Amino acid sequence: MIRAIIFDLDNCLSAADEVGPELLEPTFAAIRQANNGTLSDVALEQAFADCWRHALDYVAARHSFSAEMLTAGWAVAACTEVKTPMYGYPDLGALVELPARLFLVTSGFRRLQDSKIRALGIGSLFEAIYVDAIDEANRKGKQGIFKEILGVYALEPAEVLVVGDNPASEIEAGNHLGMMTVQILRAGVPRGGNAKHHIHRLYELKVLVTQNE
Ligand SMILES: [Mg+2]
Repeated sequence: MIRAIIFDLDNCLSAADEVGPELLEPTFAAIRQANNGTLSDVALEQAFADCWRHALDYVAARHSFSAEMLTAGWAVAACTEVKTPMYGYPDLGALVELPARLFLVTSGFRRLQDSKIRALGIGSLFEAIYVDAIDEANRKGKQGIFKEILGVYALEPAEVLVVGDNPASEIEAGNHLGMMTVQILRAGVPRGGNAKHHIHRLYELKVLVTQNE
């Protein structure tokens, strides 16, 4: 029986670029300025596109940023926050109908992730919210946080469903712990091979939860 659902935030409950591409433009400008010919313009744009789906340290490693590029981008990204209201995907109303305890676990810069949760006004929907902050010491990572939820809320892995867009992040962490994983295929999200289920809308979750009663 499913008793808890752990949600990812970016590209799961709200599009990472909901407030517009200008959100990360100052970060990209700082990286561009520190580039000094390390990457071609084309390679740089590909890396920036990845920044909407992956954490900055991951993107930097994958696209061979110089240490200067990562440092410059990191300094700006750590101060970035959303100051306008956000609305999330239009199916967020499905969350209140789910017969389970809901948790939110999101990775990224502390200030930005906190500001998005505030802008969305969704805090009260969740039993607990965890930011896996990439700019804080002693980072537990998603798997560490999922494990903590199991302990604190006395849940068995089989009682927990994990919902997110990223096969290498929450889906992998959930699989590793023996939780049921669901990849949500929001616009632009490539289908991964490691989730137990795939959905397009949050409304589809209610069926999955009740099927596993
Ligand atoms: Mg995500």
